[in-house]
Amino acid sequence: AYSHILEIHKQHLSPVRTAYFQKPLLLHQGHMEWLFDSDGNRYLDFFSGIVTVSVGHCHPKVNAVAQEQMERLWHTSSIFFHPQMHEYAEKLSALLPEPLKVIFLVNSGSEANDLAMVMARAYSKKTDIISFRGAYHGCSPYTLGLSNVGSFKMELPSGMGCHSTMCPDVFRGPWGGSYCRDSPVQTIRKCSCVPGRDREEDLSGGVRNLEKDCCQAKEQYIEQFKDTLNTCVAKSIAGFFAEPIQGVNGVVQYPKGFLKEVFELVRERGGVCIADEVQTGFGRLGSHFWGFQTQDVMPDIVTMAKGIGNGFPMAAVVTTSEIAKSLANCLLHFNTFGGSPLACAIGSAVLEVIKEENMQENSQEVGTYMLLKFANLRDEFDIIGDVRGKGLMVGIEMVQDKRSRRPLPLKEVNQIHEDCKDMGLIMGRGGPFSQTFRIMPPMCVTKPEVDFAVEVFRSVLIQHME
Ligand code: PMP
Repeated sequence: AYSHILEIHKQHLSPVRTAYFQKPLLLHQGHMEWLFDSDGNRYLDFFSGIVTVSVGHCHPKVNAVAQEQMERLWHTSSIFFHPQMHEYAEKLSALLPEPLKVIFLVNSGSEANDLAMVMARAYSKKTDIISFRGAYHGCSPYTLGLSNVGSFKMELPSGMGCHSTMCPDVFRGPWGGSYCRDSPVQTIRKCSCVPGRDREEDLSGGVRNLEKDCCQAKEQYIEQFKDTLNTCVAKSIAGFFAEPIQGVNGVVQYPKGFLKEVFELVRERGGVCIADEVQTGFGRLGSHFWGFQTQDVMPDIVTMAKGIGNGFPMAAVVTTSEIAKSLANCLLHFNTFGGSPLACAIGSAVLEVIKEENMQENSQEVGTYMLLKFANLRDEFDIIGDVRGKGLMVGIEMVQDKRSRRPLPLKEVNQIHEDCKDMGLIMGRGGPFSQTFRIMPPMCVTKPEVDFAVEVFRSVLIQHME
């Protein structure tokens, strides 16, 4: 049966849908943080279907609510009202600070960011948009212009602030940081909340011992951002997009205070600031419900997807009534499925579970524990260059050795990834060379499961070094 599946895949499915592993997994069932293949083998899911299964696979409460709603009403289209939508809008808006109170319900992260882009332009009456290098904001033609990492790097090779070929009005600001030396993305990592020598201190969110480096890198990146602003056509911009922590780029954090200064520069030029919370939202970062809160910034538009529906396709854009009105004035938005009764019922159940089961607190506690555990491995293995992140969003960057800081060759990263999977641990991958393992388990994960993951990873590395 397995070979038949592979054959069907080859013949009838998009060649872009490549399998994540050399020997692809055929998944059959899921329960909370565990996945089961068709042979009954179990895997600890430390990637959550790309950071999407927020409260656990087939969470019993979410399933019960979904089943009950399915018996009653699935779909009405967005031209009709139903109480699930209004209940959901009330619940979600209560989790956002003033004046972010108006919600647009859509179906995917790309669609949410497309809409945010239209909003920024409708409101500012400008066209130019800026995103960071290393950003990922989606794969629609519009958002591909914003995305700029790995194979999604569709830009002209002309240095700072160059145009995106997909979207000529989009400009790219400074790089996000990475540990690898011959990566085009360098040095920012020194300034983020990375466990360095004084690990305990760093884990509390401070960067005390690195403050000097941090200031230098921040200044350098601010100057680069100003250059980018100056290359924009009209020297005034429509908007700026940022992930509070870059996900696809391999869990990349900014220097402390950097995003805040960037927001100020954008606003000086008349642009609106958009926080892409597709990966960082819904409590995953532990200390706060939203990633932008960890950066001490206040966006004008927030986009969210993935974890919002625990795997059910739904997404949202939240903004101020003023910005929402500018869109209504030109009637620039419609979709059929957004905010269906089923999606909203599921969305409400997810929010209730996060609260009732203290999942944000769990992200904080287990995430901090996990960061420390993996940071210990970094001290043990020369091929782990960096361990960083916040809450249940952790990146492990693999290098040839700490001295050269060159990325570990893809073949070796692939092998480690595959061997971990064969021992029951599923991780994600990211970064410019696909050299960073991304660890983002469902928010119900426990410390003993983290111990299991660390042990698997450690034994695979020992085997790899032999
Ligand atoms: N923004 C971010 C930060 C993402 O990580 C992703 C997906 N990886 C998207 C937007 C796009 O979401 P979707 O795949 O649902 O279109």
